[in-house]
Amino acid sequence: MKTYRDILKWGNKEEISIDEGTRRVIQDKLGYDDSYFETKHLAGDEEVSLSNSNQIATEIQKKLTDIVGQENISTQADVLVAHAYGKSYPELLKLRKGIVNTPPDMVIYPRTEEEIIQIVEICHQQKIAITPYGGQSSVTGGVETLKGGISLDMTRYFNKVLNVNENNCTATVQAGMFGPAYEAYLNEYGDKYTCGHFPQSFEYSTVGGWVAAKGAGQASTAYGKIEDMVLSLKAITPKGVIETKTYPASAQGWDIHPLFIGSEGSLGIITQITLKIRKYRPQNTKHASFIFKDFKTAVEAMRTTMQAGVGRPHMFRISDPEETDVAFKTKQFDGTLADKFLNMKGYKTEKRCLMFVAVEGDKAYTSQVVSSVKKINKKFGGFSLGSKPTKKWLEQRYSSAYMREPMMDLAVMTDTLETAVMWDDLLNLWEAVRSYLKSKEKTVVMIHISHVYENGANLYFTFLSPMKKGKELEEFKEYHKGLINTIIAHKGSLSHHHGVGKALAPWMEKELGTESLELMRAIKKHLDPHGIMNPGTLGL
Ligand SMILES: Cc1cc2nc3c(=O)[nH]c(=O)nc-3n(C[C@H](O)[C@H](O)[C@H](O)COP(=O)(O)OP(=O)(O)OC[C@H]3O[C@@H](n4cnc5c(N)ncnc54)[C@H](O)[C@@H]3O)c2cc1C
Repeated sequence: MKTYRDILKWGNKEEISIDEGTRRVIQDKLGYDDSYFETKHLAGDEEVSLSNSNQIATEIQKKLTDIVGQENISTQADVLVAHAYGKSYPELLKLRKGIVNTPPDMVIYPRTEEEIIQIVEICHQQKIAITPYGGQSSVTGGVETLKGGISLDMTRYFNKVLNVNENNCTATVQAGMFGPAYEAYLNEYGDKYTCGHFPQSFEYSTVGGWVAAKGAGQASTAYGKIEDMVLSLKAITPKGVIETKTYPASAQGWDIHPLFIGSEGSLGIITQITLKIRKYRPQNTKHASFIFKDFKTAVEAMRTTMQAGVGRPHMFRISDPEETDVAFKTKQFDGTLADKFLNMKGYKTEKRCLMFVAVEGDKAYTSQVVSSVKKINKKFGGFSLGSKPTKKWLEQRYSSAYMREPMMDLAVMTDTLETAVMWDDLLNLWEAVRSYLKSKEKTVVMIHISHVYENGANLYFTFLSPMKKGKELEEFKEYHKGLINTIIAHKGSLSHHHGVGKALAPWMEKELGTESLELMRAIKKHLDPHGIMNPGTLGL
């Protein structure tokens, strides 16, 4: 039998230890002495056990088993627990504490669209909840099975590329395919292509999950968010099957496929998607890194590039002073000769900001964009650090997230939140959130911009703070609530790319307004009259 720890661990499930640089940061900034590093707080080493009994009637279980076969259905406790939660901080805490109040009654791995149609039909008649399940990397409670029922795991069979059309530059892919398999397929296909979508969770998230949660990858500044890539899709709803046609653009009234982008499983199950793909030319990619004297100037340089008409980097990031400081400390850069040189030149510790740039595409294009960025940055006092820091950052673009479990083992509250904001309001919002998060003693607050537009950008907040032992969940709930209220009060969106799930659902009415939320509810009621699809998500 598996332990809770086997389940809660991210991705490849390996035990990762805190590196020396990170240990120093935790000791210096959170005031943790050596004793904290000797034991694991809420390790979750207990074997999984469930007291809940299956709420689905025996004859319905039999019908479902007849559809998919015994081998594609599970009621085993460890499988149910593994499908009960995603990867948000409170969900991980609950697993560490062995709290699983509403596990799914069954996990089903459908093999075909026809099987999904039959399963949805039965669940619609019987009013059994269905939660679509991709890579389970949701950080907003998207896959939490609040009403039990069925967790419909798309990853076992819906994991193939169905078609690549080189003339149209499109791929049609099944929803449960994981990022690396999709990208590897495209990289090898014909003239070689890339999907262009690289969230930090890339290794363990699926194309269907990207679309359903309306995500953004690290190259979104040029390739766009996932909604900019989807041309059409197929979804199975309790009302019937919706399959949209593929056009480069259209004007026959409202487009229907965007309804499912960001629907987070609340309307139906997305089975396949046709997306734009791009030429894969990694040999042409150009990297550049810069340091600025302060955040405001770095932001101005970034905005100027985005509005200058000189093309745009694919990866375009600024780390604020504290994130820059932590990056330098963990890489043990502070105190080196180079650090002293930068300080002497006016790029002062705790004020300076790193900017990372990567441009993909045709050789002449990548050179031109990097050269334009350099010229603009120079005007704003940006000092070029060459290509190395950006390349180094890219090497750990996914693995930096592996640090979360060892941090939680040390009783460090660690979470992230993100928002989108117009340029006008960005600095105000940055200051307000920093000051709110800093109101909790000994909290490290790291903020960056990583998805950039002509009209504004996202802000991404990471915080590390000592856990209040014994009151971990209550403490987080209050802190998180204040954080979201601060973001909204300072004109940030409820989410830029993590989605809403159940965690942010209580803010939907405030964010959208009553009429808009009512409109969403009316659409949901039409497609899912009994409210069986991922109940509670998006506040629907
Ligand atoms: C360490 C870490 C880093 C992250 N970084 C990023 C990032 O950089 N960018 C970003 O956008 N997100 C990021 N996320 C959030 C998460 O990875 C994304 O939301 C991702 O798109 C979810 O994909 P998934 O396959 O894991 O979906 P799941 O977590 O399995 O599901 C997410 C939601 O979509 C629904 N869903 C899944 N598949 C389907 C389907 N076939 N049909 C209908 N509904 C479906 C689920 O019911 C749920 O509501 C990160 C998460 C973690 C843990």
